[in-house]
Order: sequence, then structure tokens, then C-alpha cells
Amino acid sequence: MLKTAIRKVGSITIGGEYYIERELAYGANNYHPLPVVLCKGEGMFLWDTSGKCYYDFLAAYSAVNQGHCHPKIVEAMASQAKTLSITSRAFYNNLLGETEELLCKTFSFDKCLMMNSGVEAGESAIKIARRWGYEVKGIPQGQAEIVFCSNNFWGRTIAACGSSDDPDRYKNFGPFAGLNFKIIPYDNVEALEQAISGTNIAGFMFEPIQGEAGVVIPTHGYYEKVRKLCTKHKVLMIADEIQTGIGRTGKMLCLDWENVKPDIVTLAKSLSGGLMPISAVLGKKEVMDVLVPGSHGSTFGGNPMACRVAQAALGVIKDEKLVENSEKMGEIFRKQMSKLIGGYIKEVRGRGLMNAVVIKNKKGAWDLCLKLAENGLLAKPTHGNIIRFTPPLIINEEQLNECIQIIRKTVVELHKFNPKDND
Ligand SMILES: *Cc1c(COP(=O)(O)O)cnc(C)c1O
Repeated sequence: MLKTAIRKVGSITIGGEYYIERELAYGANNYHPLPVVLCKGEGMFLWDTSGKCYYDFLAAYSAVNQGHCHPKIVEAMASQAKTLSITSRAFYNNLLGETEELLCKTFSFDKCLMMNSGVEAGESAIKIARRWGYEVKGIPQGQAEIVFCSNNFWGRTIAACGSSDDPDRYKNFGPFAGLNFKIIPYDNVEALEQAISGTNIAGFMFEPIQGEAGVVIPTHGYYEKVRKLCTKHKVLMIADEIQTGIGRTGKMLCLDWENVKPDIVTLAKSLSGGLMPISAVLGKKEVMDVLVPGSHGSTFGGNPMACRVAQAALGVIKDEKLVENSEKMGEIFRKQMSKLIGGYIKEVRGRGLMNAVVIKNKKGAWDLCLKLAENGLLAKPTHGNIIRFTPPLIINEEQLNECIQIIRKTVVELHKFNPKDND
């Protein structure tokens, strides 16, 4: 059984058959991982069960911007685990208020709601927007609409699937009727204006750069126009910065590229430095104040351990100047990678350390990632021909140059091996 499964994913197998076999036998079949079994991480590096070391160029989909097992974040988590892990929100705790203050001041918002996973932050943002729609904007009961973009990704709950236009995500998980979600093309202000000029629109939720869609960057000026239209039509601008936020794109928030401030922003992933699920919704006071006691909650949301970890994770971003490093290293990455455009590679795009390489061979991304793994670098395809390169933001220039060499060497190897991919 194992042999078939491995053969299915390519000709290269990289140890750890025992562990893969167990996942295939007992795990729900909802992922298709590269055949690498990891057992240790430190900073930029991951190790597999055979002892092979890799550069991590996925960073757990940007959940470890601070690098694996950052000692300061680990220490914060370990010491808090021994002191007080969870109280529930039935009582106050000595860390939540401070953490909310830190989040509000770091990102310039008035109020903060701490949750756990990214998708919960998205769900919470939609609940807040709908309630604001009824109580502040005056939308008739049961009529509130939320607008999303084509190819959006914000998680896997029923609402997230109901806002998706990708059949892989919604097929046979319905019905979704009644959610009152609208989907418009991304990076299209005319479509947005048309969609939100009705009277029942509560919010427009979008990713400043679409991550899962393959690092899709909108035209410069889009954020500003979205801001203007949302203000004009009294619609909440909700920025999903779960992947783009916390330095990933070379700014603290991606919307900072146009100095635009949304009404609500969602954060998760690196808010924890990868140690545990932590998410947050930040917003203006007049919006967040629609939540009153009993209207929303979470058993684990805002627990003391999450608070300590989030404080440490944000501290590392600031102390180690990771936002600046992300911008600088990203420039080098794109400049060097662009030199490979032609033979095998079609396009290199990105901002900061959120980058994608598009290859000519429509189904070649998987094979390239297998070969990259063999050569000591882990990355994951987002589509048949797009590879996302999102290393931890701690990468230094020497490491980056070594990684560029690995990618270059791998592309040349594959190119030689399969010259017809060029057509
Ligand atoms: C990963 C992601 C989410 C969902 O986060 P989970 O923690 O997996 O629920 C939401 N939005 C964006 C943009 C993401 O990349």
C-alpha cells in the first residue's frame, strides 16, 4: 500500500516510510504532503528522520516568520505553561489586557478580540461586520451581505467554504444558501463599486495579496481605491492579513504599502511565532463595540499562554528588525531569481519575503519541489505551475544566496533532464 502511495507522488522518496505509512493508514486523507518526514526545526532549518537538513522556504505557510523554535518565544511559552495556561474568559487574567494593548498600539487600532485559528478571526470579523450592519448602518434584519473576491482563501469552516469559488473547497459541503455572500473579481474597483453600492452591504473582506491563489498582487493603488469606495458606500473594509501581516511583505501590514487603514484587520499565523494557534481581530472602536457580553466568545481565546506567546512573538519581530529584513532580502531574492527567467521559469513576483515563481511547465511545480527537497530546500506548490517561496523572515544574506544557488542548480538540472518543458 505504501509503495503505491509513494509512487503516486513521484519517483523520489526521502526516508521516514514508517511515519508516512501510519498517516496513510490512520489519518484523514485531507492533505497531499511532499514525502519528507520532519522531526526537528531550528531557525531557518528543518531536519527529517534520516538526519537530512533542509532550508525551510515555506515557514508553515508564514506561521513561523520568526524562525523555528525561537528561544525567546519558546521560553515565554514554557514559563507560562508552568505558571498559568488558561483561565477561560469567565475571569480576568493578568496578561490579556496588556496583550490587547500591545496589539492595538502595534497596529494602530482601538480594540482587539483574541481568538485561536485564522479562520476563527475571519468568522469573527464577519459576525462583527453583520452586527455593525444591522445596528449602526441600519440594514434591514436578515439582509446583510458580505462581499469577497474570487480565489479568496481564509480557511475551511462552512462560511469560508461558502465564500469560495473553488469547487475543491465547497463541493458537497453545502448548502450555503442564506449566507448572502457575493464574489467579485480581485483587483477590480469597478466590480467592487457595483457590488457595494447596494444598501445592504456590511463588509468587503479581502487579502491584500492573495496567498493561496498563488501570490497574486493587485495593481498599486487598489488598497486606496478600496478604502475610498468602502467609505463612500459606508461598507466595512476588512483586510485579511493572516498571511501577509506581521512583516511577511516587508511592512508590518501589507496595507502599509499604500498607508491605508482598514476598519477591521485579521491576524493569525505568525502572531504566535508558530508555537500555538493564536489569532486576533483588530478594529476601530465604533465597529468593535457592537460586541457585548454574551454575543461572542471562545474557550481558549485570549488565554494567558497565548498572550505571553503573542507578546514574545511580536517582540522578536521588532527586536530583530524582521520587517526591514523581509523587505531587503525580498529585493535580493527577486533580483537574483529574475535572472533565471527564460528557460524554465516564466515569472517571479512578490513583495518582501512573500514570493512566487511561475514555471513554464504547467504541471512542473510538484516535480521541482521534489527535486528542491532532494537538494536541501523545502517549498510547496500552490498550483500546478506556481511555487511559493516564503522563508522565515530571519534569513540572512549568506543563507539567501545559498538558497538561490540551490534553486538555480535544481532548475538547471530539471531543465536539462526535460528540455521539452520549455515549449
Ligand atoms: C491561513 C489563512 C487563513 C486561515 O488560517 P487558519 O489558521 O488555517 O484557520 C485565513 N486567511 C489567510 C489569508 C490565510 O492565509
